[in-house]
Order: sequence, then C-alpha cells, then structure tokens
Amino acid sequence: MIKKLFLFQLIVLLALVGVVLFNTFTFKSNQQPLAAVSAPEVTELSLQHFQQALSYKTISYGDPSLFDSIQFTGFREFLKSTYPKTHETLSREIVEGYSLLYKWEGKNPDLKPVVLMAHQDVVPIEEATKSMWTVDPFGGVIKDNFIWGRGTTDDKINVIAILETVEKLVSENFQPERTVYLIFGHDEEIGGKGAIAIARLLKERNIAAEFILDEGGIITAEKIPGITKPVALLGTSEKGYMSLKLTVTAQGGHSSMPEKETSIDILSKALYNLRSNPFEADFTEPMRGLMESLGPEMPFVQRMAFANPWLFKKLILGTYSESNTGDAMIRTTIVPTIIEGGIKDNVVPTVATAVVNFRLLPGHSSEQAIEGVKNKINDERVNITPLSTLSEASPVTPVKGFGYQKIASTIQKSYPQLITSPFLVIGATDSRHFTEVSSNIIKFSPAIDPIGFHGIDERVSLESYKTALWFYEQLLRDLN
Ligand SMILES: [Zn+2]
Repeated sequence: MIKKLFLFQLIVLLALVGVVLFNTFTFKSNQQPLAAVSAPEVTELSLQHFQQALSYKTISYGDPSLFDSIQFTGFREFLKSTYPKTHETLSREIVEGYSLLYKWEGKNPDLKPVVLMAHQDVVPIEEATKSMWTVDPFGGVIKDNFIWGRGTTDDKINVIAILETVEKLVSENFQPERTVYLIFGHDEEIGGKGAIAIARLLKERNIAAEFILDEGGIITAEKIPGITKPVALLGTSEKGYMSLKLTVTAQGGHSSMPEKETSIDILSKALYNLRSNPFEADFTEPMRGLMESLGPEMPFVQRMAFANPWLFKKLILGTYSESNTGDAMIRTTIVPTIIEGGIKDNVVPTVATAVVNFRLLPGHSSEQAIEGVKNKINDERVNITPLSTLSEASPVTPVKGFGYQKIASTIQKSYPQLITSPFLVIGATDSRHFTEVSSNIIKFSPAIDPIGFHGIDERVSLESYKTALWFYEQLLRDLN
C-alpha cells in the first residue's frame, strides 16, 4: 500500500516537473524586434531651447498662494517665440488660465486623432536640500553628458522634445495623417485641474482619441535583474488614489485622571491594525503582461518562475514584496500621512484624526478598499470618510491595441536593442483624467534611466534627449 502511494506521488511529481519544464521551454519571446534607425545628432539650438525651458520656475506648490503666474506666462511666451511655425499652423487654446491645448489638423479626417501629453509644472526644491544640489536647479546646466535641473525628466524633456519635433515637421510642410492634439497641463503635480478641464472640453466636443501618450514608464538600461537588454516600460494602467480621514471622538478631560481609553488610544490602535494587516498581494493584468514580456528574456530559473505563475505565484509575490517599489506593484498600499490631536500637554483631547493614503491596485475599487479598511479597524468608534482627491485605478490599456503597438514599435526603432513591456504606473499622472477620451492610454517617457526625479540633482542624459526627439519624430511621421 505504502509502495503504491509512493509510486503515485512519484508520478504526480514527475508530471508536475514535466509541465513546468514544458512551459519553461515553450515560453517564447513575444518581442518583434525592429532594428533601430540611428538618430540624427541633436542640434546646438534645440539643446539651448531645452536649457532655456528649465530656467522658468514653473513650480506647483502645495500652498496655492505661492503660485507665480509670471513664470507660467513667461514660459508660454517662450514656447510661442521659440516655436513660431508651430504656433502659426496649430491652433492653441489656453485652458484654466495656464494649461495649453494645441490642435494639429491631420490629412485624413476618417482616422481617429491621437493625443500627446506632457506637463509644464515642476515640483519645488525643498528648502533643506537647496545646498545639496551640485548645480543651480534652474540654471539649465549641461555637465558630464547630462542636462541638469528641476523638471528635466519630470516633464520638460517631453514638452520640449514634442515641440521641437512639431516645429521641425511643420517647417518641412509636413502634415500628419491623423489629427494630433498636444496637451500641456500646468498643475499636474497638485492634482491636474488643467488636465481635468481639457478632458472635459474634449469630451464635450465628442473627441474620441485612438490613443493618448503621457509620462509614466521610462527606458531602463541593464537595471532589471537577469535582463541584459534595455527595457522600455510602457505604463498600461496607473494605480488609484484614495485618502481616508479617520476621526475618533471620545471623552476628553484632564490628564491627571485619564479615561481607560482615549481618542488617541483608539486612533493608534486603528492605525496599527491597518499597517499590520496589509491588503493581499496579487497579479494584475500589467504584471502578467510584464511577466510574459520579460520572462522569456531571463535566465533559466527566473524564466521558469515567470512561465509557471500558477505554481510560483507565492514565490514571485514574496520576492516583489521585499522592496518598496516591488510591493507597490502587487498590492494596494496603506500609509498614514497626517495625524492630529491634542492642544496642550495636560489636556486629553476629545478628538483625534488621521489621514491615511491608499494607492489602489487595478481591479480594487475604492468601495472594496473602504470595506477592507472597516474590517481591518473593526471599531465602530472610528469614523471613516474619503477625501475629495479620490480617483479609481485606471482601466488597463490592451497591449494588442494600435496605440500600445505603435508606441512599442516606435521606441524599438528609436533605441538600439530595446525590448518593451507593459507596466503598472505607481504614481499619478494627468492622463488618468482622460479615460473617457480614450481607452488606449500609454504612459511612457522616452528617457533612459533619469536621475533625481522629484529630488536632488534631477538630470537626464543627452542620450535621452536625443532618443526623445527621435522617438517623437518617427511617431508623428508614421501615424497611419
Ligand atoms: Zn510628471
């Protein structure tokens, strides 16, 4: 009997090994590599334009009273005088005071338009980090083959590369096949009122775009473990954004004779329960797409894991959850960001509040998440209300669609040896407001391993600028 059982287990094990190996060896690359066409050299003038653009302090501050309109109107005038032919040929509308919407009429009215997006604003330089910068953050400095400064990667490289390209093509009397809209929001870093207004405008005009391209993923060269080729990460969805305010009201009073449980105690327990019970990790569609695109390019062991997610799911999710970025890609994250309560050291506060920020995984609605939060806290005394900044995770762009395929093939033609993969964008971008304008939104900047994003010594390589110019030119020339 024992012998029979052993034999049975052995057969099952061998079958399992057989399936795993079969899946691994038949896990074929889904890349259709196109040879890159080498890019022309970047002209001195187009480099100067990028440097000049960086000198405008188009900063989005958390405090709206610090908004400096002169910088934004200055930047707008700079764009107009730097790209005169673009401004003669394309129509331009100013929305919400500073956001820009351009329309470049295409040859073929039967084809759906495309939208290229980027944003004009940048994040501030933190006072404490000012002295840590190697260069003047608004000096437009070129040094060690990099362009340095606030906004180089996020996101002026795209504003400038797009307009440089359009100016070049308009000067050649080129007209795109499809109508092209350019959208440059002015407050992406603080919620994107400009983008919201433009999205509403396009919807009112019944404009349905074939695809929309905005920032999100990047090109990463030799940074993905096990992969020696550069990878273009094309964002096909972005996580949702939700903040919940937790309010606890309890008996306050004098601190010399405290209640058994105070508002701060109750709130602390609620926060502890939230942090110690994270939402479950799972594969989303972009994550599955990433495994299918990168898996076949990886060494045997990783390839085997990615070829058999049904068996190695726990192992893969476990590995991802070890790093903060990896973890953010596989689950709805939870983190308290504001906590308030108390006014005096000898008074027990009646009210204590906290704000907890969540980034929702695609497929995990805010409603489901709030339900989960209630269960985790499991205390009726904690009042939970969502803040108005809520946005759901964006729908997932199909990788088989025209938009994704067009962007993937264009970046392959622009940068040597490149492979492409779908990807989940963890942060928030302006394009999340456009889900009703197009169901094909691709979040990708043609920049190679940018450094210092939102931080100190933000910079982008000259190679990236060259790639971006070449990418947009090939994209706009071939919009059939
Ligand atoms: Zn940005």
